Amino acid sequence: MIDTRSRLAGILTGLAIAAIAGCTNNTPEANTTDTETTAANAGEINLYSSRHYDSDRQLYDNFTEETGIEVNLIEGNAEELIERIKNEGENSPADVLITVDVGNLWRAQQEGILQPVESETITSAIPANVRSPEGYWFGLTKRARIIVYNQDNVNPDELSTYEALAEPEWQDRVCVRSSSNIYNQSLVASKIEEKGVEETETWAKGLVENFAREPEGNDTDQIKAVAAGECDVAIVNHYYIARLKQADDPQSQQIVENIGVFFPNQNEGGTHVNISGAAVAANAPNQENAVKFIEYLTTPEAQEIFANQNNEFPAISNLEPNETVASFGEFKESELNVSGYGEKNSEAVQLMDRSGWK
Ligand code: FE
Repeated sequence: MIDTRSRLAGILTGLAIAAIAGCTNNTPEANTTDTETTAANAGEINLYSSRHYDSDRQLYDNFTEETGIEVNLIEGNAEELIERIKNEGENSPADVLITVDVGNLWRAQQEGILQPVESETITSAIPANVRSPEGYWFGLTKRARIIVYNQDNVNPDELSTYEALAEPEWQDRVCVRSSSNIYNQSLVASKIEEKGVEETETWAKGLVENFAREPEGNDTDQIKAVAAGECDVAIVNHYYIARLKQADDPQSQQIVENIGVFFPNQNEGGTHVNISGAAVAANAPNQENAVKFIEYLTTPEAQEIFANQNNEFPAISNLEPNETVASFGEFKESELNVSGYGEKNSEAVQLMDRSGWK
């Protein structure tokens, strides 16, 4: 893998290789499974990723070792990367985009910066509900949006669904981050999918009425507020709790001791899950290598590393999450196709605005 200083050089090399090899781009790949292929002829990919974990780098190095294909990493947040690929246009060196939340992948698809991919390897590994029906993006990991509660003030028996948090008994007790956050937008979009706009809006209004405070901070801040008793429950992504659990500083341990994890909607459609995922860029100069790379990320070895680092659930079936995540217990997840969260995103944003969700 190539570090920051070599990025530009890597991209330029990539373009050069792409130009030289351009005419072979559409021919069947004879050496797909040939791990002896040398770096010199195996080429490279330019990976635009909003993930920045050391273990991801290890994973990319493993891919290079197996295939000879170099991975040039360009990091940024989802918005920046999507904007960048858009601005680069036809000459974009981007091959693969990796980002979190289907809302972001959907936006990238809408911007026309992705291309559909047909790969039996990917579609047989990744369940249909966590990938684009047209092959524009593929879920690699899953994250659950759960309820975290204050152990002293809440008996988990009182908890049931996201919907129930809009009931009067939760008045001034609920914390959640702002409506500008894509996680909440996707949650609301999923409710629109399930129940339609009207019912979802009634729920959102009730939820807003029960806010203990105006939305502020990120998911971790909501967990801290629950632990401190500023609110009794919050809606957050599960891996933020796992992260606190793994941190060995006394402050994090104190927070973890004061909270409990609850998977909502177990008898009604399942807990809301979202994905982080990968897609091939519309003008990928190294399209075949890009597909090989995503195929690699769906192997059990890669899935384990990729999911574990951020305490997520692997997207492929029959692979357990890490110990910390497993300690939260088994749960039923929603089987809605996540692409609906993208389709309903703008409706969700408008609905949250009408509901007074700041
Ligand atoms: Fe997150």
